[in-house]
Amino acid sequence: MANKPKIICVTGGKGGTGKTLVAVNLAIMFKNEGFKTLLVDGDSENPNTYLLLGGKLGKRESVLFFKPLINEEKCTKCGICADNCVPHALLHIKDSIPIPILAVCSGCKLCFKICPAVAIEPDYKTVGWVYNITIRDIDLLVGELKPGEARSATVIEALLAKVDNKINNIGEKYDIVIIDTAPGAHCDVEELIEKADYVIPVTEPTKFGLSDLIRINELISLLHKDFKVIINRSTLLGYKNQFFNEIKNLKLEILGNIPLDDEVVNSYCAGVPLMENKKAHEEIGPAYQAFLKIYETIKEWIKFEKN
Ligand code: SF4
Ligand code: SF4
Repeated sequence: MANKPKIICVTGGKGGTGKTLVAVNLAIMFKNEGFKTLLVDGDSENPNTYLLLGGKLGKRESVLFFKPLINEEKCTKCGICADNCVPHALLHIKDSIPIPILAVCSGCKLCFKICPAVAIEPDYKTVGWVYNITIRDIDLLVGELKPGEARSATVIEALLAKVDNKINNIGEKYDIVIIDTAPGAHCDVEELIEKADYVIPVTEPTKFGLSDLIRINELISLLHKDFKVIINRSTLLGYKNQFFNEIKNLKLEILGNIPLDDEVVNSYCAGVPLMENKKAHEEIGPAYQAFLKIYETIKEWIKFEKN
């Protein structure tokens, strides 16, 4: 049986630091060397890896959330469902039919399973979608939360189930899986970090960047994951010296620095990832060089081998 692919999670405490830029370009570099690559977009409120890859979202599957629907004719008003509902999502007044409070319902289905009168029927609503597409020879799984919905955890759970299906499918035989998370240090991010073997927080040399790096660093350490930091826009002036002193005091390992470079902005505008193969005559800019160095360091760090 093939070895399991190495899983790298690219994350960051703060939005806009360049997580997606890093995740997409790492996927491109692995793909360019002929490695079978799976990219996972777990930023369910703002999934935009496909935009950086210059592709479109296509085929999708709905992510469904269970809602209890009580059949009033069958219900004996016993209250067993409400007594056992951990988040107290069923309001039961003696001798009356319970009323579901959907805002606190976890969708666990316990009430449906234990109702002695089989009076609870499953009802489902769509809370988001998982897309399963291929762009530039990279397989891409994207979790997207339906606008106005709050059940992002359900979308992440469905996304991770798809990741498991793909990496356990012997026919797929992935060499590497790269996960892009949402910003922040909340439970969706935790779920995705938990899935990874290695974690790369991406930050920038600003006060906000430092404060959010400290938060995400705490979460990664609690999960006992091996991690190294990438500093994006590393040549930004202003707070740079204090920032790098703090990083040293915190004893954080730096995987690489990506300097400010117009070529990065141009790649966004063109919808062509920075690290997509260059032609021989094209000039190599500082961000491109930084990515090449980071890529080689990652392969050494994770002891990367083809499956
Ligand atoms: S357990 Fe079933 S029968 Fe009893 S109150 Fe709940 S829905 Fe009604
Ligand atoms: S699905 Fe779970 S949380 Fe929701 S009402 Fe039923 S028992 Fe309570």
